[in-house]
Amino acid sequence: MPMISVQKEIEKCFKCGMCRAVCPVLEAENVEIVSPRAKVALCEAVEAGRIGFSKTTLGILDMCTGCQACSLNCPSGTDPYALATLVRFENKRAKPALLEPTGPVSSLLVHVLSNPQKNLDGLARRRQRGSVRVGYFVGCVEANRLRAVPENALTILENLGITVGVPEDQVCCGWPYILVGRLDSARELALRNKKAFEGFDVVLASCPHCITTLSREYASLLGIGAFGKVVKDVLRFLVEKDLDRLLTLEGNAPRTLYSHPCRMGRGKDKDMTHILFLRKHLGKSLIELDAELCCGAPLELVSPALGRTIFERKMDRITHSGSSVVRSGCPFCVLAIGSGFDTPAKHVMEDIRIAT
Ligand code: SF4
Ligand code: SF4
Repeated sequence: MPMISVQKEIEKCFKCGMCRAVCPVLEAENVEIVSPRAKVALCEAVEAGRIGFSKTTLGILDMCTGCQACSLNCPSGTDPYALATLVRFENKRAKPALLEPTGPVSSLLVHVLSNPQKNLDGLARRRQRGSVRVGYFVGCVEANRLRAVPENALTILENLGITVGVPEDQVCCGWPYILVGRLDSARELALRNKKAFEGFDVVLASCPHCITTLSREYASLLGIGAFGKVVKDVLRFLVEKDLDRLLTLEGNAPRTLYSHPCRMGRGKDKDMTHILFLRKHLGKSLIELDAELCCGAPLELVSPALGRTIFERKMDRITHSGSSVVRSGCPFCVLAIGSGFDTPAKHVMEDIRIAT
């Protein structure tokens, strides 16, 4: 995937509106101006000089979770997410004043924005020689709050005979920096990660934000097209190798609600790996929400009022579901939902075990 050009993305969009069906922000706000189609039109007007880049323009472009569902579901191949991010960056409107932590997700993001290093004590492993060299990318939420996720993922992989390298010089994937429009810093981090993972064929991760940043945004936004790895969710990797038949899920609650992460796709691009695994192991005790409601986590930093509205809608649905535990494949969802109410939230990868 080459780095996008603002002008070409604008020209590709024929305003069909198909992206509207998958946008979690439009779903929550129900006004056209926040839709991906309107954001493309807004960028077009800014680039053509028909309107200035005002605080209002920035506010509208910031109303985006970064899920990229619009981009992955567009019939003309337009990337509204990358377009809006580049226009924000080019207009130099990433304002530090907006970066006030208002909850657990924004607190962590603010921390990562000043410290992209990770504490990999007990997780780092040297690269092994072998036919397929598998690496593991530790997400910042995992490193700081959910260490059970990478610890368990590595234990499972190694007990299944897959040798894994965890480079100790890897840093934050750069997504928080992209979120606030600091693309130059994100590019520096991308280059450091590219060097750290030199020699690996496959890079596994348990965070869909890291996965999409490494596999899509390094190319489309940062011009790091030669990262050149297959980047995959750990469970998806195991399913594709038919190793999931050796796995089981421990600690099943009577009513488990699955929260599908926006960054694992919406619409035709939805990744069903985690849902299918949970259906198999939980049967009728699994609750799936009809609508794929976003948790609003990424918005907590750049558009907190909207993030709160989306979060409360989701909490309302979870409360009324009568679930006793929420599971998600995204550490950010787990962090946001786990802070919202008494029902515990867990990552799907935390309680997967090898069946005895
Ligand atoms: S971005 Fe794609 S899906 Fe959305 S209006 Fe434009 S062409 Fe249609
Ligand atoms: S990236 Fe997601 S939230 Fe942002 S405009 Fe596209 S669909 Fe909407």
